[in-house]
Amino acid sequence: MHKNLIGGAWVDATRASRNLNPSDTRDVVGEYAQADVEQAGEAVAAAHAAAPAWALTTPQQRFDLLDAVGSEILARKAELGDLLAREEGKTLPEAIGEAARAGYIFKFFAGEALRSGGDSLASVRPGVGVEVTREPLGVVGLITPWNFPIAIPAWKIAPALAFGNTVVLKPAELVPGCAWALADILHRNGLPPGVFNLVMGRGTDVGQVLLDDRRVQAVSFTGSVATGQRVAAACAARLAKFQLEMGGKNPMVVLDDADLDVAVTAAVHSGYFSTGQRCTASSRLIVTEGIHDRFVAAMAERIARLTVDDARKAGTDIGPVVDDRQLAQDLEYIEIGRREGATLLTGGQALERNSAGAPGYYLRPALFTETTPQMRINREEIFGPVVSVLRVKDYEEALALANDTPFGLAAGIATTSLKHAAHFKRHAQAGMVMVNLPTAGVDYHVPFGGRKASSHGPREQGRYAAEFYTAVKTAYTQA
Ligand code: NAD
Repeated sequence: MHKNLIGGAWVDATRASRNLNPSDTRDVVGEYAQADVEQAGEAVAAAHAAAPAWALTTPQQRFDLLDAVGSEILARKAELGDLLAREEGKTLPEAIGEAARAGYIFKFFAGEALRSGGDSLASVRPGVGVEVTREPLGVVGLITPWNFPIAIPAWKIAPALAFGNTVVLKPAELVPGCAWALADILHRNGLPPGVFNLVMGRGTDVGQVLLDDRRVQAVSFTGSVATGQRVAAACAARLAKFQLEMGGKNPMVVLDDADLDVAVTAAVHSGYFSTGQRCTASSRLIVTEGIHDRFVAAMAERIARLTVDDARKAGTDIGPVVDDRQLAQDLEYIEIGRREGATLLTGGQALERNSAGAPGYYLRPALFTETTPQMRINREEIFGPVVSVLRVKDYEEALALANDTPFGLAAGIATTSLKHAAHFKRHAQAGMVMVNLPTAGVDYHVPFGGRKASSHGPREQGRYAAEFYTAVKTAYTQA
């Protein structure tokens, strides 16, 4: 049984969860202790007790620890990637890539610990000096989703620790194994007791403790809009700092002048890879008339060649859906699309077994054509390998439709026109814009986040992460 990490000790629980391999549901990945509300409170208390001493560590001490953690993750990326593929269903190359990304994130923020600094400003008063410094917040609560089980915890834990905060992590119920592996690495690399705590368990009880406990100064959340709204309400009620990264319904515009191969590659990559289970997946392809039929034909041909199989089998392009509930949701949206009058051009069939005969949650990538902007499949996040095509007259109509969504995470355009690319970069209402690239696929050292219902609060990743994980202090001195 894998235990929770509270105050530097591995702590047992009365309840355990078993997570299954979605590629082969006969395979139990592991058993994980489920913390209760009291233990979540103990984790907060441990983080609270450890905070003053951790805040006083030198940047060099924090650099050394985070750099060592990053090195171990990178050295073990194949093993961690295998666990991720087995637990969540990403293909092995994607999963190893995600593990490596987590390693680089720790190394990046190790450097940020050294670089974090302030400012010296002129005062309007004679003889007065003004210094602006950044200080740690104290205890931060991190609540993470299942779809990036190593990278998302890493991109919250690393800046939190680098800037001198202590942490309680509550990972998603479906992926405790990856979070436990990260906790084990942090613990063995010598983080002082209580600086990092892991509580695995349900969001509605264990997660809720992090929202309500006054000792938790800030909460960084990634997950669905519905849960994000709960996080926001609970944090606002006690005026705690919070940051939300939520869903997307990301458009990719394809213009007549696009390079067809570039457009199809970008659309297939960000629509279907990682089984479409990415907040940055491009689920709405907005295509101008002149290229529409050629684009759709090329998409159908490329989709037909995608291999849907065991995530850890060489040659698999698309692994399984994460679990039975998500598969049922994907199939329900496919049915909704049909009922709404869209044409299911290809895919959409659930496959109960993989090529080796093992039972799993497989779904052939689905492409809807002849869709309209008001259809639910074009407005709601499906979070699976289900993509729709919208036919438009010209760039202006495409841009208007791209922005016609409650979300604003990522937006893409495939075009060879510099003019349209420049206009789109300026006018797409999204936090991230990609030109001739998949909307999914972001660097680990630059700002990540969106607008509207997709995000709230300061950006994650890169130098901008300091905005969330520090408090600014302005000090005045009369010489
Ligand atoms: P979810 O909202 O169901 O769960 C996210 C986390 O919140 C889990 O750890 C869960 O246990 C916890 N939680 C649930 N109820 C809670 C409560 N009352 N109090 C505290 N915590 C609670 O989301 P999910 O299904 O795990 O993830 C999928 C969603 O995440 C999708 O909408 C996807 O778009 C989004 N996502 C967004 C980003 C981004 O950066 N924008 C990245 C990845 C995933």
